[in-house]
Amino acid sequence: MFEQARQLLKKYYGYSSFRHGQEQAIQSVLDGKNTITVMPTGGGKSICYQIPALILPGTTIVISPLISLMKDQVDALVQHGIPAALINSSLGVQEARQVMAEAKQGEYKLLYIAPERLESRDFVEDLKSMPIPLVAVDEAHCISQWGHDFRPSYLNIERIVNSLPDKPIVLALTATATPKVREDICASLYIDEQNSVITGFERKNLSFSVIKGQDRYAFLKDYVKKNAAEAGIIYAATRKTVDQLYERLRKDKINAARYHAGMNDTERISEQDRFLKDEATVMVATSAFGMGIDKSNIRYVVHFQLPKNMESYYQEAGRAGRDGLDSECIVLHSSQDVQIQRFLIDQSSERARIQQELEKLQLMVDYCHTENCLQEYILHYFGDHDTASCGRCGNCTDSRASVDVTKEAQMVMSCVIRMGQRFGKAMIAQVLTGSKNKKISDFGFQSLPTYGILKEKSAKEVSDLIEFLIAEELLAVQHGQFPTIYTAAKGKDVLLGKQTVHRKEAVKTRTVTNDDPLFAELRELRRNIASEEKVPPFVIFSDTSLKDMCTKLPLSDGEFLAISGVGEHKLKKYGDAFIQAIMQFCENNPDRQPEAGLVPPSTKKVKKEVGESHFVTLEMHKTGLTIEEIAKKREMAITTIENHLLQCARDDQAVNFDLLIPDQFKHLIKQAVAEAGRGKLKPIKELLPDEVTYFMIKAYFYWSKEKVGVEE
Ligand code: ADP
Repeated sequence: MFEQARQLLKKYYGYSSFRHGQEQAIQSVLDGKNTITVMPTGGGKSICYQIPALILPGTTIVISPLISLMKDQVDALVQHGIPAALINSSLGVQEARQVMAEAKQGEYKLLYIAPERLESRDFVEDLKSMPIPLVAVDEAHCISQWGHDFRPSYLNIERIVNSLPDKPIVLALTATATPKVREDICASLYIDEQNSVITGFERKNLSFSVIKGQDRYAFLKDYVKKNAAEAGIIYAATRKTVDQLYERLRKDKINAARYHAGMNDTERISEQDRFLKDEATVMVATSAFGMGIDKSNIRYVVHFQLPKNMESYYQEAGRAGRDGLDSECIVLHSSQDVQIQRFLIDQSSERARIQQELEKLQLMVDYCHTENCLQEYILHYFGDHDTASCGRCGNCTDSRASVDVTKEAQMVMSCVIRMGQRFGKAMIAQVLTGSKNKKISDFGFQSLPTYGILKEKSAKEVSDLIEFLIAEELLAVQHGQFPTIYTAAKGKDVLLGKQTVHRKEAVKTRTVTNDDPLFAELRELRRNIASEEKVPPFVIFSDTSLKDMCTKLPLSDGEFLAISGVGEHKLKKYGDAFIQAIMQFCENNPDRQPEAGLVPPSTKKVKKEVGESHFVTLEMHKTGLTIEEIAKKREMAITTIENHLLQCARDDQAVNFDLLIPDQFKHLIKQAVAEAGRGKLKPIKELLPDEVTYFMIKAYFYWSKEKVGVEE
């Protein structure tokens, strides 16, 4: 049986081996045992039920609480060539009925449903008439009142599953680690705790870091600009900060989207869509964003403000790097955030829970101050003590030089004491830099010996220094209506000359960007195909697959199939388009050639390898079918069919251009070519209405027998 599972993994998903825990979970299900699988986000939980669904006869039901996630999952399955569908509130009554009728005919291997569906009696009756070998309960922690997303309708699952004539196997899946939640899931779904598959919680491709005592907006801007080609999320604690950050980033010419609960549904959905489709690279959001976001190529998650606890932090940060590629998770810490979080806890928590929430907040603050491995801190927090330093995080890799700032620290602390320890950071910085502000003279601070003692520095620099001293716990913040600063016990030792202070240079921003030009081209191709097919780009191929293509430079079907994430269906659908793009790139970049042993690139090879295919397209084209119709019939991407027809045109085959370029556009294209010249396609495209595609312009050149040697 397991050999079959392995073959299916290769055939449909294009992966050559199972990840840690997957094999065990699949085996347990195939042995007919109710099972619980606990893996971190991105660990590969979906395959644990999808492979058994392919093996077992009948339709597997997947219960998932998140509508957007369901859609992405179904899109991804269809892309793999696996028949799947969903039923949730996003469908109309008629549509839902249609899907259910098809499901009853056995047309789907997997049917995703929202838990609320189980409350419908008709629906449950329908289920009773279907062969259902397996029920997968995704996000199973929703069953527990101890979890953070309790959903009462999850409590119905066991009763309904029990009422089905052939009692299905139940597989519960979650990323939530706490033993209490796990116990609840097992009790509720009748899972023997022995049938637990729990992998470690370490995310080996994530590097964590905390930046403190630095200008955070400056850091953020620099970071986002350096990683402009990559997708990232910036979390802020309040809606107001999200709006402010969004405006500032836009002003700084950064293509940001935003998301928070204060926006209306339409706006939120459209912003989320821009991000999912890689149209906006940065999402600025409150914690309202991210549940059910399956986007696998998020390269960084920055918390602009302190998160409220480690649970939320690991969940939010964990949205980075689901595809397994290196990604970064950064907290930009400033002491005033503690105040904001305290305020939020005060506002939103029930009285009884406030103390508990404050304790959790403190552990989050401690995370920002630890000098030990950050990944290890997180794992310990979640109860995993069998760990070692990660060697990747900001603390493990910190090699910054440090300078002695004892004298400046003494000046600041002495000033704080002389001002009566009842003022905030801004006022202290003003006194130290000798500001002429009226408020300062009102308090008589200009006569303090520390007035203007750091006047060679800017107020911003002194403010950063104060922030650093707070981070070092030499100064402390008294949280009240306005936070005030006082000298902590440790600071007094510095004032007495018993201890010195060393400050490290500012942390420099890094890039997680992949600057390979071929990667950029393949990403563009993926984006075009995704927009034709109305699915997010990561559903077509993950970044991991594109990167593998950049390394292996596949030029034939066989080689393309060896790429991680390329199964038979995707080879058929997208192979030609990607192989062509890679081949073109290799021809234009002679220094980039496939490893020895592979046949060198040549157009001849394209004809040899994929030649049959474009003739098939040509025959269908001759019968008068449109490009879309051929793509649909052949289950190939539109881009692939377009490429086939261009190849035929290049080879002087009888292509019917009237089917490729609508008459009304021919004249417009002619005018645009006359105006922009024939050097590049882009200036021509810019002169034309959006409906005129690059393909039409290229086809136009063949039609008008113009020279084609133009680049986009
Ligand atoms: P989870 O639900 O645990 O967050 P997913 O099931 O979405 O994770 O998987 C995360 C990513 O890992 C997906 O892009 C998936 O295709 C990939 N993946 C899963 N299993 C494997 C495997 N055996 N080999 C390579 N990639 C895998």
